[in-house]
Amino acid sequence: MSTRVDLVITGAEVITGGYGPFIADVAIADGKIAGISMPGSMHGAEQIDARSLVLLPGAVDLHVHLRDPGLEHKETFADGTAAAACGGVTTVCDMPNTRPPVINVERFEAKRKIAQAQAHVDFGLWAGGMKLDEFRGLQAEGALGLKIYMNRSHRADDPYTSELSMPDGDALRDTLARCAELDMLAAVHVCNHEAEAAERARLSSVTRTDAKAVCRSYRNEGALDGLSRVIEAARVTGARVHIAHVSLAPITALGLVEQARCQGVAITCESGPPALLEADLDRLGVFGVPFAFPPEEAAAYWDAIRDGLIDAIATDHAPHTRAEKEAGNDDVWAAPPGYPGVETSLPLMLDAALRGNFTLARLVEVMSTGPARIANLPRKGSIAVGADADLVLVDPNGEHVVDENLLHSKAGWSPFHGRALRGRLVRTILRGQTIAADGQLLEIAPSGRQVAPEPRKAATSS
Ligand SMILES: [Zn+2]
Repeated sequence: MSTRVDLVITGAEVITGGYGPFIADVAIADGKIAGISMPGSMHGAEQIDARSLVLLPGAVDLHVHLRDPGLEHKETFADGTAAAACGGVTTVCDMPNTRPPVINVERFEAKRKIAQAQAHVDFGLWAGGMKLDEFRGLQAEGALGLKIYMNRSHRADDPYTSELSMPDGDALRDTLARCAELDMLAAVHVCNHEAEAAERARLSSVTRTDAKAVCRSYRNEGALDGLSRVIEAARVTGARVHIAHVSLAPITALGLVEQARCQGVAITCESGPPALLEADLDRLGVFGVPFAFPPEEAAAYWDAIRDGLIDAIATDHAPHTRAEKEAGNDDVWAAPPGYPGVETSLPLMLDAALRGNFTLARLVEVMSTGPARIANLPRKGSIAVGADADLVLVDPNGEHVVDENLLHSKAGWSPFHGRALRGRLVRTILRGQTIAADGQLLEIAPSGRQVAPEPRKAATSS
């Protein structure tokens, strides 16, 4: 090779979304993949002997809440991206429901400044709100797209969501029309607020405030109604829509997504790893809410991941303090929903792949290539010449037990604590630089940069 090579990773089994796996050397120069070729054929200033290891592209998590600004007692960019780095996630996409919510350029810039100073991995920022005039400016700043909240918070400690919540169907259609005009992706938390509130009231009236009842009630029929309305609005406006945590809707939502896709609606969907079951709630209580699956639904989700119906694994990394969660011990509605997941997502999915649920190529597709494609980040999510050298080295024969005391989120707890997993992450590389090894963050200055969607070519007429 004629160019100067900084690093060569030798002899790993390389997994890309498209083809392989194959044994190869991967050369890195200036933070990018400079070459992929026969083992032993390339030399660089530094070599990593990766024989017996597997090389994956770094994961791209489309849905995290790093809570900064305004909720730094739960999480910060420094802690949340340290967790990401140690979990093999090299790009995180942060949601706009911080305090204040990111609904205009000024707030977008303020959040970017915080992230740039602290982030250990690359980051994209979602925008929010219903001010159509702001969208173009937010897009120019590099917003990943617009997050639409069809839900409204029922808790008094969430006043900020009023600036983000979609009031009705007209607003939804207008918003998607504007997104289509700008070719801006819309990520949607689908919901029918009235139906959800009614279900909550019904359960409370029969004193069902336990974790299982609350998890099930999130999957109410209203979510399906919300999804149907989004599909219809996307069909009418031509907007590209991405369904956030589709698993918060009843399982039939997957059929609706598939049907819409077959009819030409530009729709994608994400789920977290379906790794918590209702039975886990006996032990976890409120700490397992809301993503604990009835066993038959978990099986259906594993199938949907294997078959390609789920486009991306996204964690909805939602750190809360233990005290905040414990406030829901007697009445789960009193606690905020969600749990930290960005550091355990790839390990859980790797475990599932190594147990034979799906291939490593499919793992890469849902963890890296798929989410990068959805967010239109062509330099991310794949091992290909010219791509950013965001890589994860994995020992497929290793194993480890998740220990919440060793995780990096400020939350300090995990619903997966004690889980024995096959496979072990050995090293995370961001644009050619090792940032984490064996579950530890390296002591180097945070080097995360903002990522922004590439402008897409004008759509063809097909
Ligand atoms: Zn979320």
